[in-house]
Amino acid sequence: MSRFLAGRLQTLAPYVPGEQPQDQQYVKLNTNESPFPPSPRVVEALNRAIISQLNLYPDPLAKTLCKTIADTYGLAARNVFVGNGSDEVLAFAFMAYGDGRGFAFPEISYGFYPVYARLYGLQATKVPLNKDFSVPAEKFCNLGKPIAIANPNAPTSLAMKLSDIEGILLTNPDSVVLIDEAYIDYGGESCLPLLEKYLNLLIVRTYSKSRSLAGGRLGYALASEEIVDDLNRIKNSFNPYSINSLTMLAGIEAMRDRAYFTECVSATVAQREQTKADLRGLGFTVLDSASNFLFAAPPHMAGEAYYKGLKQKGVLVRYFNDPKLKDYVRITVGSARQMQTLLDKTKELIQEATA
Ligand code: PMP
Repeated sequence: MSRFLAGRLQTLAPYVPGEQPQDQQYVKLNTNESPFPPSPRVVEALNRAIISQLNLYPDPLAKTLCKTIADTYGLAARNVFVGNGSDEVLAFAFMAYGDGRGFAFPEISYGFYPVYARLYGLQATKVPLNKDFSVPAEKFCNLGKPIAIANPNAPTSLAMKLSDIEGILLTNPDSVVLIDEAYIDYGGESCLPLLEKYLNLLIVRTYSKSRSLAGGRLGYALASEEIVDDLNRIKNSFNPYSINSLTMLAGIEAMRDRAYFTECVSATVAQREQTKADLRGLGFTVLDSASNFLFAAPPHMAGEAYYKGLKQKGVLVRYFNDPKLKDYVRITVGSARQMQTLLDKTKELIQEATA
């Protein structure tokens, strides 16, 4: 840190992303990416575009992309905002709606929420989860401040009831309620049907999971025209070209290829259920996931020992250094082959622990 850094930034504790190790090939189940490549249509469009378009600036309004997303969900393009990963959309939302009232979110949730709160000098209200790791919806009712909730939640993988989310929207009419639907394609009920009724609803989604485009960095928001205007106001005061031309094309084609999307999501959901059953069969506690990952506590060892043991055997999962999560790890649902390796290595570790 230099001595020039503004005082309010000196205590920032930046978000720590999951490891992306370059030292060796791991079976990588630690950052919830899709194990499947992007749609062949994406690859084809990029091949065509790569030479002809990179000398030009991208469309700052991302019109075709917004229209394609809107068409997919039966909305108008004016209800869609796109950003450089949903992280950027979240960052803009915290900047836009965090005021003197701060921002509220579950105590255990996506690790970037408290970081954005800190970055923008917002008071963070961290609402503890219930004992079973579910989000206590009633504690978010009548809060009278902006709210961010991931549904399904991460890293717990649990989804909320739509009626519970509606209660939060209804009882906080003067605050934006951001529902982060990064994992919604794998389960749970989307808030999409509530969009027309609640002008304070801001849905945030990503291409990084179900659309196999984590490396493209593309996320979007679905909201009222006014909220979309707010987000564009911030984006255009920051970086009007935040989505590069190649990602824009990839985003359009990935959204259009609905058959490929459905195929990949179905394969992941089927694999999730299989791995959940397999792990339970080995004595794990595994929560009922509505996402593309499993939140699981191994038998005979703590979460950290399991994480470290797996890493030594070439399998990477995510461990959170938090006393409330110490028994658990988060395991991305990968391909059938990857999950078989996970199981094989897990059996070895259990044998070693009980020998
Ligand atoms: N929201 C949640 C709940 C997440 O888990 C993640 C990333 N893992 C994101 C948002 C950010 O995703 P991205 O920036 O890749 O769109």
